Parts: sequence; structure tokens; C-alpha cells
Amino acid sequence: MKIILMGPPGSGKGTQASFVASLVQVNSMSSGDLFRENLANDTELGKLAKTYMDQGKYVPDDVTINMVMSWIEDSENNGGFILDGFPRTLSQAQALDDRLNGVGGIDKVILFNVPELELIKRLSGRILCRKCQTPYHKEFSPPTNDGACDKCGGDLFQRDDDSEVVVKERLKVYRQETDPVVERYRGIGNILEIDGSLPIRVVEKSLRTALG
Ligand SMILES: [Zn+2]
Repeated sequence: MKIILMGPPGSGKGTQASFVASLVQVNSMSSGDLFRENLANDTELGKLAKTYMDQGKYVPDDVTINMVMSWIEDSENNGGFILDGFPRTLSQAQALDDRLNGVGGIDKVILFNVPELELIKRLSGRILCRKCQTPYHKEFSPPTNDGACDKCGGDLFQRDDDSEVVVKERLKVYRQETDPVVERYRGIGNILEIDGSLPIRVVEKSLRTALG
């Protein structure tokens, strides 16, 4: 089973990746984790990727593609896998399709749909403890005492990345780059759309049904 999970930041696809992996018994890979792994191991691709990440930029396609392809070619993953956060652009999708051309291509693309306003609410409500890094959410998992960490009493703050302005910009970039990828898979006809705005258990149930 070769599966792609697609959806905007905040759609919950990352949360569902391990659930889907356990359903179909293959490994899942998130592009974020793959970057961190390459950085930790100080690989050539990792060093290259770091120069972009340090500037808060997206890593260029060819670097990302090379990392993902070498992960897929690993003997543990070449029989099946779940990709989370890749392909994000049309050229990544093209590279992936070329690579999988001889082995039947992608079996299923699962798209997590969540309305824009809900995404903004989810993403811009994130706050963190400055001391122990415990995450909270202003609306969904607020601390007991306003502005202080439940665990250590430390100050809570919002990362710049989670401010509403930055969140809206990230979602705009996502639409521009990834909507064409969604259209590509709609054209191929192997896309499954899931309502990602529903509670986690309900989303899991629809995934279970969709994947048989
Ligand atoms: Zn704390």
C-alpha cells in the first residue's frame, strides 16, 4: 500500500499518520521528521536543508525530493509507505510519480479537508511554556491559570510562527503550491476526501472505512 496524506497545516493529517500506518502495516514518513533526521545525522542533504530552514524558508524541491527518494528506496519502505507532507508541490508530485511509474504508482491519496476559519483558530491558538516547552491551546487545551504553565508555573508565549498573520500567510502559500497537486490527483481519480474538522475518533472511523 502506497499512500499519501494531504491537507493544510492544522488539518490533523500528522496526527492521523500513525493511525493509518497501524491500519495498513507500513511505515509513515513526515517530511518534517525526515529533515530533522538528516540534520541530526549531519548528512550532506541535511546541511543543505539547514541553510534554508535557518532563514525560515521552505527547503527547495530538489533537496526535499532527494531526501524522500532515498527514504523510499530503503528496503524497509520500498514495498509500501505513507507519506505525510510530501508531495507539497507539482514538481515533487511529478518526481514521485516518475519514481513509482514502474511499480504501480500511488494507491491512495487521502485529503483532509478543514474550513479555513477552523484552521486559523486551531493554528493561531497555540501557546508554549517558555521554561519547559509544554504546549497549550488558548481554546482547546488552555492552562488552568491564565498565562502560566500548569506543570512549572513558567510564562506562556506564542511563537511568531503561530501568530494569526503568519498562519494566514502559511495557508496562502499552501493553497498556491498544493492545490494544483490536489487537482492532479483528482484527475487521476485515486483521491479520498476526509472531513478533518470532525473529532479525532470520527476521523479515524472514516479512515478505517475508506481503507477497507
Ligand atoms: Zn512549563
